Amino acid sequence: MSTAATSLDLTAIRAQFPILQQPDPRGRPVIYLDNGASAQKPQRVIDKEIEVYSRHYANAYRGVYEFGQIVDDSVEATRQTVRDLIGAESQEEIVFTSGTTMSLNLVASCWGRHTLKPGDEILLTEMEHHANIVPWQMIAEQTGAVVRYIPLTSDYRLDLSDLPGLITERTKIVAVTGMSNVLGTLVDPRPLADAVHQVGGVLVVDAAQSILHQQHHVVNDGIDFLTFSGHKIYGPSGVGVLYGKREHLEAMPPFLGGGHMIERVFPDHSTWSPPPAKFEAGTLPIAQAIALKPAIEFVQELGYASIQAHEHDLLVKATEQLSEVPGLKIYGPGLDHKGAIVTFTLEGAHPQDLAFLLNKKGVCVRHGHHCTMPLHDKLGLTATVRASFGVYNTAEEVDQLTDALHYARKRLRLS
Ligand code: PLP
Repeated sequence: MSTAATSLDLTAIRAQFPILQQPDPRGRPVIYLDNGASAQKPQRVIDKEIEVYSRHYANAYRGVYEFGQIVDDSVEATRQTVRDLIGAESQEEIVFTSGTTMSLNLVASCWGRHTLKPGDEILLTEMEHHANIVPWQMIAEQTGAVVRYIPLTSDYRLDLSDLPGLITERTKIVAVTGMSNVLGTLVDPRPLADAVHQVGGVLVVDAAQSILHQQHHVVNDGIDFLTFSGHKIYGPSGVGVLYGKREHLEAMPPFLGGGHMIERVFPDHSTWSPPPAKFEAGTLPIAQAIALKPAIEFVQELGYASIQAHEHDLLVKATEQLSEVPGLKIYGPGLDHKGAIVTFTLEGAHPQDLAFLLNKKGVCVRHGHHCTMPLHDKLGLTATVRASFGVYNTAEEVDQLTDALHYARKRLRLS
């Protein structure tokens, strides 16, 4: 099995994922199309976690004994790999967190407290995940800042026609998704970075979805803060990344207080370690941080260009086939502006019933508001169904999704 557009050997890729080699709990092949929620793990990631626990587990940055040194070096090796992946200038700019949600809360809280004054503006987009809305609302309430939104065009892209009206002297933070987890819309950070830097603000990119599909280069793209989760890039859950430009990490106060983040603790006050330790209070997700490295290497070995070409083929095929299902409506921009996510509704079918019926054919998709209530309100919907693709998905699985949709229509007596 290989794809026409690229040299990717899908049989070899799939063979690396043990979960795809076994039947699901009902004995059927696994047709996993919920990569937007979380991606499956290649054997090398699983092996790495087992290796840490079975061969040299210790806390990180605590012990001078051999195990402790191996753990410290391994965590630092992941930091270096993340730095290479996103083009950061130094590994001190890479902070480990528990995931995108914590990374965004960290930036909102720390950078927000550091910079925001009453009347200042935080600019988001209408298609953000709740993780890139709620922390900003919370800090806005504490500081008197105001949250505003970049609107969407009728074809589900960012409407930047009035950029000077959106990004003004009051704008201190622009926080945008790299790729919508519902519409699949890809966002070019560069024009936003240029505009917000001109008024002295910063650009935050929530790369939770985009990191799986496309290259980010924080320096070339002018990104001040970038966040992602290990579990969405074929890595472990429980570990995430916050990239912050060194000068920002140095300037802002810490998020959590506790062990490891201090330089000196006195009875009445404390001083902070330099970044990244300043933002890594307490025990890290040790094995998870170490096993993030082989996950990123898996992506780097395949290369974003090949991943994108293959996923684009799947997106084109899925869009063509699903568009022919009577009553089915897809939400998202033209295929040149989106990543491999197809979100839809089927007339006469509740999204939950539809997801349930697709599962009867072994197809795993997500239904609901996908943590984007404001976007769903804008679409005039309470819920949708989402098929989200990863690099191991195949053209045959797109056929199986289509067949399952026809089956669901029959079961719901829609045809
Ligand atoms: N941002 C986007 C665009 C997402 O899709 C998600 C998760 O689905 C998140 C943030 C939150 O990620 P996590 O739950 O890993 O913190």
